[in-house]
Amino acid sequence: MNDVIQLLPDHIANQIAAGEVVQRPASVVKELVENAVDAGATKITLRIKEAGKTLIQVIDNGCGMSKHDARMAFERHATSKIHSAEDIFHIQTKGFRGEALASIAAVAQVELKTKRAKDELGQHVVINGSDVQKHEEVICDNGTQFIIKNLFYNIPARRNFLKSNTVENKHVFTEFQRVALTHPEIHFELYSNEQLVYNLPVSNLRQRIVNVFGDKYNERLAPISTETDYVDIKGFIVKPEYSKKSKNEQYFFVNERFIRSNYLNHAIASAYEDLLQEKQYPSFFIYLQIDPGQIDINVHPTKTEIKFEDEATLYAMLRSTVKKALGQFNIAPSLDFTQDDHFSQIPLPKQGRDVPEPKIEVDESYNPFAISQEAPTPKSDIRTPRSSGGSSQKSMNAWASGSAFNTESFDTEKEIEAQYIENIEVEDTAEAQGALEVDGNHFQVMGQIQNKYILIQREQGLYYIHQSRAHQRILYERTIHLLATQKLETQSLLFPAQIELSPEALMNYEAIKDVLEKMAFEIDFLGKNTLVLNGVPAVLGDENWDMVLGQIINDLDVEAHSGFALTDELCKRVVFGAAMRTGKSLSLPEMQQLVSDLLECESPKYAPNGKNVIYHLSFDELNHKFGL
Ligand code: ADP
Ligand code: MG
Repeated sequence: MNDVIQLLPDHIANQIAAGEVVQRPASVVKELVENAVDAGATKITLRIKEAGKTLIQVIDNGCGMSKHDARMAFERHATSKIHSAEDIFHIQTKGFRGEALASIAAVAQVELKTKRAKDELGQHVVINGSDVQKHEEVICDNGTQFIIKNLFYNIPARRNFLKSNTVENKHVFTEFQRVALTHPEIHFELYSNEQLVYNLPVSNLRQRIVNVFGDKYNERLAPISTETDYVDIKGFIVKPEYSKKSKNEQYFFVNERFIRSNYLNHAIASAYEDLLQEKQYPSFFIYLQIDPGQIDINVHPTKTEIKFEDEATLYAMLRSTVKKALGQFNIAPSLDFTQDDHFSQIPLPKQGRDVPEPKIEVDESYNPFAISQEAPTPKSDIRTPRSSGGSSQKSMNAWASGSAFNTESFDTEKEIEAQYIENIEVEDTAEAQGALEVDGNHFQVMGQIQNKYILIQREQGLYYIHQSRAHQRILYERTIHLLATQKLETQSLLFPAQIELSPEALMNYEAIKDVLEKMAFEIDFLGKNTLVLNGVPAVLGDENWDMVLGQIINDLDVEAHSGFALTDELCKRVVFGAAMRTGKSLSLPEMQQLVSDLLECESPKYAPNGKNVIYHLSFDELNHKFGL
């Protein structure tokens, strides 16, 4: 029998390998620009034509290459960046596989001009589809210049697969931005069809972000910073009012590489918690520096996923860092408007003394799920007069007037106020009003309106509290806290209830049954489509759980959430089902309890689904309504 196996010729092997590295012009841009960064360039110019389909040119002033290296660079597995397998765990450069140039040269017409500072003459190499056409000496500048023409010229199927110039341009710009955002110390330029699109001079990080995204970003950014033995976190979060309907301004960089992590994105999103409207996502530019040994970077070259040794710690640190920053810049809500006075009491520094930079201190033992046992005093760490300047005052006032962030619900609340303001029955004596001290937060319950709102009076005016949403918030924070500390207890049902599910819902149940169990639901599978509910989380009390749970299992879009996000979503829904309803008449002690519980919450202003819990009417506004 004849032998049938033969080795593939190099150029075919390279073409196949190229399929992994080079998907579109943007992939070439990424590889070449990253090589220029690795070469220590301080200026990198990118020129593209027709979205990079006909031309990609990258010029750098980096270290250049020798005669030998200029040729070797195009060999597969030829790299100057690692020498042993062990080196992979200490990678400091962007590339290390030695595959990019070989792959690019297999599917395009490539020209290289390169010169080291110490050499008199440079090298000129021309390669078409892996075939070396020319290698000669040339007069050229120090540094390296790659010209890539007619990408996929020899693979028409791949070329036809490319999208419109608009789409491919977008990909190129995205890759360019990602590198530019990690290296503000490098001057970048991008020309498309001879037009200058970006000119990004050397600057600090903030200025770089502003140069990439526009001047208006300057006021949108709030710095974050945490340094620990495990990780350094720095960068900027975008203030919640500027958050987007899409996730495409979420930038995570780990050791100067752009990465994607749904898990870490969730850590950020959960720090913003209720500061965002539904379907809005926080924007951020977050840079992590971590010991390369703690991460697994050795993943697919074009993939942006990354594995961390200790993801849970990172999650908690990120969440707490962002939360602190939100507090620091008075972005996060606070019920305690006496904070205004607090600001003005901060003594000014004595003349001649240096004013220290405001710092964010991170409590490393911080449990991101813990419910604060303190009164809802301001979470911001006010250390210098600088951080108590005009803008923070402004944002406090924005909160006080209800104009911050949630304008939509503000309008509805305003209507409600207009409708009911005349119907408020105010009881007379202080005792009857139920004066109560809660951790120094004094409030008086004035009464219940339409069995829907609780009206309280505080020093800063009147507050209408949506009783059902308030209860949702309280139950949510308790549940999340108990879940995190694994202290959720089951309360057995005297009469176990049966839940019938559709086949689809049963599949949903399969996906979430572990989470339900963690949440202290006790459920047995009776066979066919029937579950039996034996116990429920004690913290949530008795409800028509069979109906509520049946509905939740039926409605939940399991695919849309994963990991902690799924648990969180489930908690929100369960809590929604368990919370007291609008229409429930409450006694004075019940109202007092509800309000004081609410004031102990971390984010009392919003229900878990982001809807308003509280509407504040200042006495000034009230007087104004009466023309006073
Ligand atoms: P890798 O970056 O993984 O090492 P590449 O195929 O991208 O592999 O590049 C191969 C080698 O060519 C690099 O290791 C480097 O030594 C050299 N090289 C590539 N681009 C440049 C450049 N712009 N300046 C100097 N050397 C370069
Ligand atoms: Mg490379």
